[in-house]
Amino acid sequence: MRQIVFATHNKGKLREASEILGYGFSLVTPSEIGLTEDIPETGKTLEENSMQKARYIFEHKSCDCFSDDTGLEVEALGGAPGVYTARFAGPDKDFNKNMDKVLSELAHQESIHPGISRRARFRSVVTLILDGQAHQFEGVLNGTIARAKSGHGGFGYDPIFIPDEYPDRTLADISEEQKNDISHRGKALSAMAAYIAGIS
Ligand code: IMP
Repeated sequence: MRQIVFATHNKGKLREASEILGYGFSLVTPSEIGLTEDIPETGKTLEENSMQKARYIFEHKSCDCFSDDTGLEVEALGGAPGVYTARFAGPDKDFNKNMDKVLSELAHQESIHPGISRRARFRSVVTLILDGQAHQFEGVLNGTIARAKSGHGGFGYDPIFIPDEYPDRTLADISEEQKNDISHRGKALSAMAAYIAGIS
């Protein structure tokens, strides 16, 4: 079993990554190695933030690690919230306020441009640092933004995202297994696991 640090304090991400990567990996959290502070993410792209989070762990602890930076990109909002997904409605990272802001900004756009697209995508960029070398993997999930929140599963923006694979349900309405099978994070982490398996 490979011990690897996952550069996140987000319990939803941690739960999903453990399920996706399975028994071959033992995931260690930053807190478990004494890094309890917020990991800086000041980049201008998901790629930069993802690299910054993994590098932060490596620079402090010199261990194998990976990070995930995820953005929700809404077509009618010019790709927003994108790299600002976590703090879209303010610094407190309140996911209910974040979802409300997406719904209200989209409603505003629809009032100006009736029939405008509600298409959106989640994009995850995973950075793996293995033996000091960094590698990045991307995963995308396409869908549309719901008109109202629905469901109690998942985390973050899941209650307002309808994936193309389940056109009458949000990510919060489907099971965690169903989400992991199709998700941005599932795809990026599976690519990472395949890469590690290929060089092991
Ligand atoms: P970050 O990647 O930690 O910067 O997270 C960005 C934001 O996206 C946070 O507000 C998360 O809650 C949200 N987020 C990340 N992954 C998902 C997901 O799979 N579903 C819904 N929201 C997510």
